[in-house]
This record gives sequence, C-alpha cells and structure tokens, in this order.
Amino acid sequence: MTRIGVLALQGDFREHLERLAGLGADTLSVRRAEDLGGLDGLVIPGGESTVIDRLARNYGLAAPIRAAIAGGLPVYGSCAGMIMLADRIENPARGSGGVVQGSFGGIDMTVRRNAFGRQVDSFEVPLTFNGQPLEAVFIRAPEAIDVGPDVQVLSTVPGQDAGIHDRIVAVRQGNLLATSFHPEVTGSNAIHEFFINMTRGDA
Ligand code: GLN
Repeated sequence: MTRIGVLALQGDFREHLERLAGLGADTLSVRRAEDLGGLDGLVIPGGESTVIDRLARNYGLAAPIRAAIAGGLPVYGSCAGMIMLADRIENPARGSGGVVQGSFGGIDMTVRRNAFGRQVDSFEVPLTFNGQPLEAVFIRAPEAIDVGPDVQVLSTVPGQDAGIHDRIVAVRQGNLLATSFHPEVTGSNAIHEFFINMTRGDA
C-alpha cells in the first residue's frame, strides 16, 4: 500500500489526509523528523508559508525534509506548499529580528506570493491539468514567475491584460509537483491521483 505523509504543522492538512485516504492511500500526519521514515510520498498543504517555514525549522523538520527531497522522495506542495518547494521566493516575508522567510526548495522556479491581487483574495477558474479539465480554487495564491529548463509546466491560467502571457499555476520537476491552487477543496481527484501515480513511478 502506498504510504503518504502530510506535513501537519499548519494549514489544511486534514483535507489532504481525507482525500488521499479516500483514494486508498495509507496516510500519516507528519510532525516530527521520525515520521518521514518509510514514506512513499509527502504532501505540503496550503496555509501560510511563513508559519510552515518557521514551525518546520523549530520542529527540526526543515533539514530532514530537504534531505528527503534531495534523496528523491515524491513531494507535492499546494499553494503555501508550492512556495515551500520553490528554490526562490520573490517577495519573502521578513519576521521580527529580520529573519527572512525561507523554503525547502527543490523546484528551480521563482514564486511570487499573493500574486493574484489583494482585492480578489480567492477565485475559481476552469483549467486543464494533464489533459483533464478541472475547476481550480485559488486562495491568496502564489504564481511561478520564472521556471528553469527542467521544470515542466502542467497548467496555466490566461493573463488578465493583453500582452501578459499565461500565468504558471502547476509545475513538476522530477519527484516534485506543485500547484498554486487547492485541489483538496474541490470535487476533482485529478491532482491527488496524479501524485499517487508519481509515488508509484507511474506518472
Ligand atoms: N498566501 C499564503 C502564503 O504566502 C498562501 C495561501 C494559501 O496557501 N492558501 O503562504
């Protein structure tokens, strides 16, 4: 059975756990470094990337997660999780004491946090992922503003203004998958199924 952990420090990890369990995966809430052992895959949920970053460091999880990523563990990051998988954050938060928000990294891309504007905090858009139509929910979502040559773009949404190219909202680089949107709050299983297939080497 496929064993998939969900990083359960902050954010909507319960929704991911339910969705994965519904698809037949054996699931685990990951809160300590020991929890990473024996996983076939890891999901980093949506939430607040500044908080996930801080808690992961405090709980001693940041370095082990980086090592797992480097070691080839399949990891899927949704929204805040996408930010955590980006090698570069264009507009990181600066906390008290001048601590700059960090990420686990792994995907050769720069993300812009809260890229879709402040007035429109959340919206729903039909898009295509891996050839399948899907209704995608965006909540204060990031966007990949540049991606390296090894990054595969899996979904885009049209730019609002003429002359603005399509905006990148789903990417894959090797063992890593990231989406700006939240498939765990919509009806479609396409993203979670795709990720489970990745953990089995079938995608
Ligand atoms: N804006 C949040 C962040 O920067 C992400 C929002 C989300 O995960 N829904 O982490």
